[in-house]
Amino acid sequence: MNHHRYGDLDKVWAKTHGRCHLCHLEVDLATYGLADIFGADAATVDHLVPQSHGGDDHHDNLLPAHLGCNASRGTQPVAVTRFRMAGALDAPMSTDGRIGAGVAIMGLGALLGGALTAERDETGRKQFNTTGACVGGGIGLLLAVAALS
Ligand SMILES: [Zn+2]
Repeated sequence: MNHHRYGDLDKVWAKTHGRCHLCHLEVDLATYGLADIFGADAATVDHLVPQSHGGDDHHDNLLPAHLGCNASRGTQPVAVTRFRMAGALDAPMSTDGRIGAGVAIMGLGALLGGALTAERDETGRKQFNTTGACVGGGIGLLLAVAALS
């Protein structure tokens, strides 16, 4: 969907995986500009740095938001509004961000699993436990899936 002012809104929507960057719930791009029908649930583009604070219409400064959330934020710092609405400081993650976070959690799980279950060999040195690493990675995977779904 192209917008005369903001350009390709699909790209803006892709940044948060189609979620409102303030309340983290889904916001349907098809409702953009239809506030008279959808009211507070209508899609809007929110400026990360408010226009009144010099924020521009560049892609980096734009994120999807519900009309109601956008209005409720006003010119508050984003983190304040997000924390109030979604209990989070960050915008919802894009698909890439979610995959990256999942891989990071798995890696951390494997590292922890290997280190925590490390056993000393006959020379007294600690051996990284590969089985423990696999178990840790598996637990990390489960955590990642639980956290990101
Ligand atoms: Zn919202």
